[in-house]
Amino acid sequence: MTTATTVIRGGTLLEPAGPRARPADILIEGDTIREIGAPGLRAPEGTRQIDARDRLLIPGLINAHTHSHGALARGIVPDAIPLEILLGYAAAVNGNRTLEDKRLSAQLSAIELVRKGCTACFDMFTEFPAPTVEGVHAVARAYQQVGVRAVVAPMMADLTLWQALPGLLASLPDAVRRQVEGLRAAPGQASATTCRDILKAWPIDRSEVAPGIGPTIPLHCSDGFLGACRDLAREFDVPLQMHLAESRGQAVLGIEKYGTSLTAHLDALGVVGPRFSGAHGVWLEDDDVRRLAGAGASIAHNPMSNLRLGSGVARVRAMLAAGLRVGLGTDSASSSDTQNMFEAMRLCAYLSRVQTFDYREWITAGEAFTLATEGSARVLGMDRIGRLLPGFKADVVFLALPHMESQRAVPILRGQGRKVIDLSADYRLRDAALYGTWYKADHIDAVGLAEAVYGLPELHRKAIATASLVANPGCYPMGAVLATAPLIKSGLGRGEGIVVDGKSGVTGAGAQGRKVEPMYLYTEANENVQAYGIGTHRHTPEIEQELSALAGQPVVVGFTPHLLPMNRGLFTTASVPLTKSAGSGDLLALYREFYAGEPFVRVVPEGERPTTRAVVGSNFCDVTVVSDPRTGRAVCVSALDNLGKGGSANGIQNLNIMMGWDERTGLEAPPVYP
Ligand SMILES: [Zn+2]
Repeated sequence: MTTATTVIRGGTLLEPAGPRARPADILIEGDTIREIGAPGLRAPEGTRQIDARDRLLIPGLINAHTHSHGALARGIVPDAIPLEILLGYAAAVNGNRTLEDKRLSAQLSAIELVRKGCTACFDMFTEFPAPTVEGVHAVARAYQQVGVRAVVAPMMADLTLWQALPGLLASLPDAVRRQVEGLRAAPGQASATTCRDILKAWPIDRSEVAPGIGPTIPLHCSDGFLGACRDLAREFDVPLQMHLAESRGQAVLGIEKYGTSLTAHLDALGVVGPRFSGAHGVWLEDDDVRRLAGAGASIAHNPMSNLRLGSGVARVRAMLAAGLRVGLGTDSASSSDTQNMFEAMRLCAYLSRVQTFDYREWITAGEAFTLATEGSARVLGMDRIGRLLPGFKADVVFLALPHMESQRAVPILRGQGRKVIDLSADYRLRDAALYGTWYKADHIDAVGLAEAVYGLPELHRKAIATASLVANPGCYPMGAVLATAPLIKSGLGRGEGIVVDGKSGVTGAGAQGRKVEPMYLYTEANENVQAYGIGTHRHTPEIEQELSALAGQPVVVGFTPHLLPMNRGLFTTASVPLTKSAGSGDLLALYREFYAGEPFVRVVPEGERPTTRAVVGSNFCDVTVVSDPRTGRAVCVSALDNLGKGGSANGIQNLNIMMGWDERTGLEAPPVYP
């Protein structure tokens, strides 16, 4: 099966860190960014091209808080009214909608978002008097149809406005009070039951449109109902969003009703946690901010509606300084007049400048951009969107399971869209039949095996960059292949008569430092050297596979591993017959050319020799080669750390390549010497 590829050429890429931009091309495979590179980036034949000249390349913006039902109410919310009066209009403005109205409203909302560069949103969608399965599912499908990612959370209350605000009923004239005091909202229990049905029968891939829960405002929800919403969010692992301290009235009346802040009350109910986001958060005290940050919760900042409704200016700098996650939203098209995220970013930055004269505290354009992308992605619980980085949408899993166990886990992980770096042998050998010969077991994941890339960066860097499954090489093959690759590739080394002699510290040699076997006992290993697995070691076919590919014909090697009395370190001596005579200087020149630009393979200067001490604790592999004219052979030598370049450090190098990061990230600590 082939996946369609697309390349976007000629654009200017905005760096995630801030307002710097550089020319770049982007290669996309299926729905995932594969590679970002300099203009002229190579793309496979048949790749669809998009001309982005004169365009800025940014990730799709993410709206952390909106209400799709507002799309049909745009322009009918009166000017110059505060939130509490607007809420009095809510049922009249958003009620009496048919299913088609609800779908259309979401479709309009999604289209407006896309047209303004926004590709994902958190939608608190309401139906009067109570949510319905058909209504919420119709809205979810509308987003899918337009192609916008979304969290759709039914917005609910089980108290009327007149019940919600302490003192409101009592303050009304008698005639009016008699009209409204008998009114009741939909019972919370019924809404919770409907939510359960909505969640259970969710009709769409959650990576595209996911469900959420939206008890609208603390004061408007009974504690019992909030508890039910909390339990649903936990049970179905979905985000929960509420309007939190949006207006000063809410904050003050909250203290009157609960005796604590709204945030503290929600926290006491167990509602506040990593799945929780509060919309607005204009009137949060320092203690609230700390509490939210400590719980891993988020705030969706909505500068436009906060201004339109006179709610106030949220203290975004204080939130960020406290480590609170903040996303950016537009709120409803009816209360903000637009869902333009660029407008929201601009106001987010500029509003901070009326809060303090200290310009170092202002929100910069780059910060506002980060809130509108990465920050909002966290609010949606979709942490693999919001950045232009290769493979960003996918998680990476490292597996270090016993041989022939990984092949059971890998298909499951890949089915969930995860990238995998496997440190077992299960995906190293391309020929499945070899597993029967060397591992005495059948390979059961033919698809994975066919797609796996052998994770030796110096030979397969390009394939690793686009791989979803990488087989990290064994330690002996790493040492043997790096020692001999330049010779074999150039044709100077003969494919027959190669003898490889490997020596490993006790943490390698199949022991991982933990295996209980006489060979690894202190009394056996210390002050002793022994060969093992003579003629039968499982790394032999791996070495042959890689050298054969380099030679373009079958290569057979005689390989013998040895156990040395040291903790870490792997030393290889390979004797390779030469096809024609060559001096050591010529061979070294060949090695230097082959490994030019390689960050972790060091061809040591003539006259010096690799040692394990010089590489222990690092991802380096030191190599050299010496011509032996008397035997017509070259002696190739390499030293590496079996747990470094021969193990997990090389796994990290593969990760860096797969993610498009600097290949040296996390690997530049110097070796431990002496
Ligand atoms: Zn809202």
